[in-house]
Amino acid sequence: MHFRELEEKLVAFRDARGWMKYHTPKNLAISAAVEMGELLEHFQWESDEEILESIKDPAKKEAIADEIADVIIYLTLLAHELGIDLDRAVEEKIEKNGKKYPLRT
Ligand SMILES: [Mg+2]
Repeated sequence: MHFRELEEKLVAFRDARGWMKYHTPKNLAISAAVEMGELLEHFQWESDEEILESIKDPAKKEAIADEIADVIIYLTLLAHELGIDLDRAVEEKIEKNGKKYPLRT
């Protein structure tokens, strides 16, 4: 699925529930940050080794996946509200990163 398809699905889901009025750029940016905080709660006080061990628990993995999805959902809706083409933005950013950090041979 491309970001464009995801965006269309999320906007349809949101609009069917009348949530558009709440989805201002500021609210969506805050919501993305809140969800990022919820994701980080799973890692707080844990070592990398403990995190990799805990993710073997399917329930824990699902809970973390839910938070990652929440972050992506809000960022996709934010891009939609700002008229940003995420497929293009990500492609262009990868290209910029490639120029900034060229391969060393
Ligand atoms: Mg959440």
